[in-house]
Amino acid sequence: YAAKAGGQGVAVHDDAADRAWRRRLALSDDLHLALGPDAAPEAAGQFAVHYQPQVSAAGTCVGVEALVRWQHPRLGVLAPGAFLDVLEERRLMPALTALVARRAVADLARWRAAGHDLRLSFNLSSTHLCDPGLLPLLDELVAGGADPAHLVVEVTETSLMNDPDRALVTCQDITARGFSLSIDDFGTGYSSLAYLANLPADELKIDRTFTSRALADARIAAIVAGTVELAHHLGLRVVAEGVEDTATLDLLRELGCDESQGYLHSRPVPAAEFLSWLQARQGVTAAVR
Ligand code: C2E
Ligand code: MG
Ligand code: MG
Ligand code: MG
Repeated sequence: YAAKAGGQGVAVHDDAADRAWRRRLALSDDLHLALGPDAAPEAAGQFAVHYQPQVSAAGTCVGVEALVRWQHPRLGVLAPGAFLDVLEERRLMPALTALVARRAVADLARWRAAGHDLRLSFNLSSTHLCDPGLLPLLDELVAGGADPAHLVVEVTETSLMNDPDRALVTCQDITARGFSLSIDDFGTGYSSLAYLANLPADELKIDRTFTSRALADARIAAIVAGTVELAHHLGLRVVAEGVEDTATLDLLRELGCDESQGYLHSRPVPAAEFLSWLQARQGVTAAVR
């Protein structure tokens, strides 16, 4: 854009790129208004936490992942992909994840009190992994009454690789507090087996790019099978992400995945809707027994 203003270089006027740029700037300002240090307290209400179930091979819902949605004042509901990178840029990710974690932990407490034996997973970004506010946040959750044995921190393989040594130390700090650690989007990054073996992880989530192709491509299925075997040797539980149909679920179960998550079971939904789903599902499981 500087080049364009200076009148040199390629002078192609690209309306689409221009609109995207303006939109990004606007989002950046709006995020700052909603989450920045001077944000009005009620602005936190623009963010909703949705929940997606994690289902065991036996068919029981054993966990739930918290996924944020932004109810933008003018643009409607935005998925994380539309604003997470802008958040990172504005260094507002820790504020958002704290909001999500606090709210999700409160929801989990209500579900557990109602007799649902669930664990809760929430996502950490790469910058948050190196943020001095992370461990105090985890301590705050525990001080507020949450049992870290029920909480899973998801970190993507890629974000671990940004600064592997530092990430390893943080991961050790996380698990020393009793939280579980999950490696998210596994297979899309470039971690080495040696690094993986040293990581105090409890769970590995196989990325959707693999699970969605396992049925159609025998080589992908072989990669999944090998990953499961490796993970099990390292003592990790394996969750298959992005499962959309029964045939894929059956295959992934055959390949040894312990749990699955995906639209087949449920899309990410608001807390009340998740509870209804859970109750309906338990009715079905009880009837089968
Ligand atoms: P993720 O942690 O890998 O979450 C799974 C994503 O896959 C979610 O996208 C979910 O809606 C989507 N998904 C689940 N099942 C299916 C399926 O069967 N088919 C398809 N096509 N998609 C499925 P979503 O909610 O848009 O989130 C995208 C990413 O944004 C997440 O990927 C996570 O990395 C990040 N994210 C979400 N919430 C937060 C948060 O509170 N904090 C941070 N730091 N990152 C978050
Ligand atoms: Mg995740
Ligand atoms: Mg994932
Ligand atoms: Mg993914």
